[in-house]
Amino acid sequence: MPAKPDDFPPFHAYALAHRCTTCGAEPGQPCDAPRKQAEIDTMNSTRAQLGHPPLETDPLHLLHASRTDAGGRHRDRDVAAAPWPEDREPGRRYDTLGEHWQEPSEGI
Ligand SMILES: [Zn+2]
Repeated sequence: MPAKPDDFPPFHAYALAHRCTTCGAEPGQPCDAPRKQAEIDTMNSTRAQLGHPPLETDPLHLLHASRTDAGGRHRDRDVAAAPWPEDREPGRRYDTLGEHWQEPSEGI
């Protein structure tokens, strides 16, 4: 069975596993980013007035850039350290997030 390209946790999972150096959010906690949230709320209330459904927000948008950068570097290291996709064992994790990431259950 060929390995999927998404064998690794998503970028936001890596970002969340890091402490935020901008706002001090602990690993696993969302960033304290009221202005980012307010922008999304404003956009969605405008959309609601126009009869549009709210936008699906990317969880990365609510994290500070320093944190997503740290997460991205961590993910790059894991991907670089893992075997080539064709040499990976199905079902085995090659990331180093440990308890910070639970693989979604199969069959959703
Ligand atoms: Zn932050």
